Amino acid sequence: MCGIVGYIGNKKATPILLNGLSQLEYRGYDSAGISTIEKDKISLMKDKGRVKNLYDLTGIDSLEGTVGIAHTRWATHGKPSKENSHPHMDNSNTFSVVHNGIIENYNELRAFLTDKGYNFLSETDSEVIPNLIHYYYQKENKKEKGSFLTAFKNACLDLKGSFSIAGICLDFPDNMIVVRKDSPLVIGNSETENYISSDIPAILSFTKKFYFLNDLEFAVLYRDNIVFFDKNLSIIHKECQNISWNASSAEKNGFDDYMLKEIYEQPTAIRETIGFRLQEDGTCNLDELNFSKPYLSLINQIYIIACGTAMHAGLAGKVCIEKLCKIPTQVDIASEFRYRDPLIDTSTLCIFISQSGETADTIAALKLARSKGAKTIAISNVIGSSITREADYCIYTHAGPEIAVASTKAYTSQIVLLNILAIHLAEILETQDPKIISNLKKEILQLPKKIEETLKCSEVIKSFAKTVYSEKDMFFLGRGIDETVAREASLKLKEISYIHSESYPAGELKHGPIALIENGVTVIGILTDSTLVEKSISNIQEVITRGAKTLIITNQNIENSMFDLVVKIPQTSPFISPILSVVPMQLFAYYISKEKGLDVDKPRNLAKSVTVE
Ligand code: GLU
Repeated sequence: MCGIVGYIGNKKATPILLNGLSQLEYRGYDSAGISTIEKDKISLMKDKGRVKNLYDLTGIDSLEGTVGIAHTRWATHGKPSKENSHPHMDNSNTFSVVHNGIIENYNELRAFLTDKGYNFLSETDSEVIPNLIHYYYQKENKKEKGSFLTAFKNACLDLKGSFSIAGICLDFPDNMIVVRKDSPLVIGNSETENYISSDIPAILSFTKKFYFLNDLEFAVLYRDNIVFFDKNLSIIHKECQNISWNASSAEKNGFDDYMLKEIYEQPTAIRETIGFRLQEDGTCNLDELNFSKPYLSLINQIYIIACGTAMHAGLAGKVCIEKLCKIPTQVDIASEFRYRDPLIDTSTLCIFISQSGETADTIAALKLARSKGAKTIAISNVIGSSITREADYCIYTHAGPEIAVASTKAYTSQIVLLNILAIHLAEILETQDPKIISNLKKEILQLPKKIEETLKCSEVIKSFAKTVYSEKDMFFLGRGIDETVAREASLKLKEISYIHSESYPAGELKHGPIALIENGVTVIGILTDSTLVEKSISNIQEVITRGAKTLIITNQNIENSMFDLVVKIPQTSPFISPILSVVPMQLFAYYISKEKGLDVDKPRNLAKSVTVE
């Protein structure tokens, strides 16, 4: 959601900043802007609309500065407009600042600053920041070493809410200062230049060496150095981390859209997720965790907490964890969990899932769980992201960068990881028949091949999508683990095709929603659970009788003739069947969106990582 890029080095900053902003476009935004330190002033170029509009702004080509900050805004306070776009400057034009997040006490700060004679040009919460920095700067010996940092720090400590902030100062043309709290920001390091960004892929083509800040840690970036400070301005040491993703993994590589590329990347992503964790000889290692049998035996409940697609992965994970580990497991939506005083304590294990690791609600839920003494595990795709730093333990999906807003490979890799986690816990606890576990392991190892097999349904799904893309409503049905996939399929369709859809446990339909079924409506059934398939077919029969058009995704031998289309997928263990059955559903949503001529990768109103509450 929204983005920040910054550069300090010896090259012209503007092209690097504009390129970085384009890389962050997928996150969702409504305005963009850039500031560089020029000879005798700070430049400011911004407008509402796309990043490419910035290229046309008069004077942008003549910017020479080698230090600059840039921003894509996802408006929270004040409409998208030129004035409200970032960067924002203080009244004396000494400081320029970009901010992602929300300043909750901005009214109070604005009143304070207005009282001191400051004027505001925008409706944003963010504009208080450069003016507050200026206010504190006035109290320092200006231009003296450390005065920019002290003023910046004092201003930031007055802020309530979530923020990642980067600031530059005309009096310190060789510095850039950054801070973060509950909002993402990474620092990329190279020998004679340094970068900042809201996420790793945007600057991956420049460096693979990254630093990650914790809440309220500050960094002063120079061309050839970075110094880190805690909130008392004591110097702290940070380890540089090498990121193994390469820049091309964040490009489209010949696919029309990132989403399609990421759907097709699932065999590779799953191979990476499995990695060394599961070996052909049956060994299962999760070195990231060090749980002992006595500790695990004390755990009496597990919570899986996440939002959106990650929550759907959690629903699939619950089935496996309960079956293998025999521990009651609940799945909760992070934004609900955090406000409902959940009954958790030291005998609760909480698993938090977030692809980006920056989902604001998930981070808040994680902090709450820790404060209540629960042990916490983070599952994320992004090395060094916030949840991975907050949790007691962290396991990475290693699915590679996911750029499309609608999550695909992150979902399937999260389910794989939850299954490996369940196996690991069950082996320590000895709660399941080793034969069942060994069979599941074999099936997991075969997943990449079976996904490749499943992807062959692409053309038939595309043809079916062509026949239904103009519909207003659709229904997704399933029972047991298939119902969790029905939910994910329905969400995927909503996200990128804007078609209203509902997902229901197939047996629940007749308790109300069947009233909505009328002639021609599309109903999609996911039928992979052999123990429930007959029952689901009876439910689908009920909608056929009422005129529904049906698409069935199944690995069972069923009588095809009563359905409009049956897509066969490979057999696998029921615990991991969502990883295969979701693939045709991802393609279905994708092709409907394409058929409607929509922007698949950047659907309206949505952002890739939801970093505000
Ligand atoms: N709250 C700020 C604004 O509305 C920043 C939004 C963002 O994160 O882009 O301008």
